[in-house]
Amino acid sequence: MSRAIVIGGASGIGLATVDAFVDAGVRVIVADRDTERAEQVAAARDGVRAVHMDVTDENSVAATFADIGDFDTVVNCAGLSNPGALTELELDAWRNTVDICLTGTFLVIKHAGRRISDGGSITCIASLNGRQPGAGMGAYCASKAGVLMLVEVAALELADRRVRVNAVSPGLVMTPLTEGIGFVPGLTEDYLDNTPLGRSGEPAEIADTIVFLASDKARWITGAAFDVNGGAHLKRYPDV
Ligand code: NAD
Repeated sequence: MSRAIVIGGASGIGLATVDAFVDAGVRVIVADRDTERAEQVAAARDGVRAVHMDVTDENSVAATFADIGDFDTVVNCAGLSNPGALTELELDAWRNTVDICLTGTFLVIKHAGRRISDGGSITCIASLNGRQPGAGMGAYCASKAGVLMLVEVAALELADRRVRVNAVSPGLVMTPLTEGIGFVPGLTEDYLDNTPLGRSGEPAEIADTIVFLASDKARWITGAAFDVNGGAHLKRYPDV
């Protein structure tokens, strides 16, 4: 890996991934729909530059990959969750989650896959929720399950150019995405009760796995999904 683009790199797990690549001596492009934050991230780090990308907009995704020059490493961390029981969830909220988490992953794979250097890697962030249902999280769970399957299909389709495609499925990691759950009484405790290692994860712990998967040490790994969750996949997922 020599040149990485981290999508959703302005915050949380993506930001930790930017830092982990910088530590590994990799030149990084941070791409985010929050251009201001992406530019702040780039300005504070050597060898990092910022670009605007909205993964729900095909023109934006295509133009970014066309404009950035050569790259061999792609990480897609863009995501969000709109909670709501299936009988209550507004169609717009469903579409927004699916557009960002699932369709966004498709668009990133489509346009990165056309231009990435032979032998490169694409890593997509799925979730524990891609394999464990959570009541009140139907749009997110369905999207992340879709991400896991898209990664497997992409691994098959891009293997002829030795491009590896993998997923990382985090458990609970405290980031701006999840900080709101602290306001639901008992929810954080419920998560932790269901995590054998008994704590939430740090963004850097997800980033370490992402950097490993992008590295030559993972050269024979493709179409795989890595659970990075303190063992939470071994237990039931708590209701939201
Ligand atoms: P975060 O909110 O801190 O960061 C998400 C980033 O994605 C933000 O910078 C945001 O601006 C960007 N983004 C959102 N929509 C975008 C779009 N349409 N185009 C481009 N960028 C966009 O969240 P996080 O917790 O770091 O989550 C990163 C990924 O990890 C997400 O896919 C999330 O679903 C997944 N995940 C997180 C957790 C967790 O507990 N934090 C658990 C499992 C999976």
